[in-house]
Amino acid sequence: MRQKIVAGNWKMHKNAEETEDLLNELIDKLPNDIEAQIIVAPTFVNLASAVDHLEFTNIGVAAQNMHQNESGAYTGEISADMLKSIGVNIVILGHSERRAYFHETDMLLAQKVTTALKHDMTVIFCFGEELKDRQNNQHFNVVENQLRDGLFHIENKDWEQIILAYEPVWAIGTGETASPEQAQEMHEFIRETVRKRYGSDIAENVSILYGGSVKPENAKEIFSKPDVDGGLIGGAALKAADFAAIASAI
Ligand code: PEP
Repeated sequence: MRQKIVAGNWKMHKNAEETEDLLNELIDKLPNDIEAQIIVAPTFVNLASAVDHLEFTNIGVAAQNMHQNESGAYTGEISADMLKSIGVNIVILGHSERRAYFHETDMLLAQKVTTALKHDMTVIFCFGEELKDRQNNQHFNVVENQLRDGLFHIENKDWEQIILAYEPVWAIGTGETASPEQAQEMHEFIRETVRKRYGSDIAENVSILYGGSVKPENAKEIFSKPDVDGGLIGGAALKAADFAAIASAI
């Protein structure tokens, strides 16, 4: 059975004190019997304290990005080894904001994926079409290309470390959500694309998360779809009550 997962991407929000407060609230509000693996992704500067804070919980901690090289003169960047050294074993790669504002290409992401896997990290690999792609009926092609160019160089054994996150760009932070039917249609296509390249075992076992304006009000319906294995949550992850309600909807 594939794993259900609910992950919160905190983006560039929450200073040190606010991070501690939100973590405390989450520990308090998340029910103990949740079926899903819960992951939070605070900013780089608060990762170490988050790892400490969550040591005796089941909540995992992810970084929102990392550099593709091992080390070197890359001012402002963070390596896989640095993340591992503070106990962070999960990294989000390919978020649409990284692709759009920091010009991360599929080729660069392929390198980041390789580096993360080399360090035995779990990768939450994000991808998804823009509004114009959907309007031009190119959304399946775009998603297929993103998977092929950013991820399909990995070996079969590496899939144990991969979580897919389909995030249509037009639904991120916009309040616009893909309908549960649109999400299911695309998730089914993604699983089929993985199946064609890597076979049924891998396709059936990989978790595919949906991301894009998931809220307590719509989570249950989206999560009820057979190929939706959870969510990557942005805005609603910043309020403990909302994130807990979303996680409980799994
Ligand atoms: C995200 O940034 O990954 C995301 C899904 O954001 P939001 O939930 O705010 O749309």
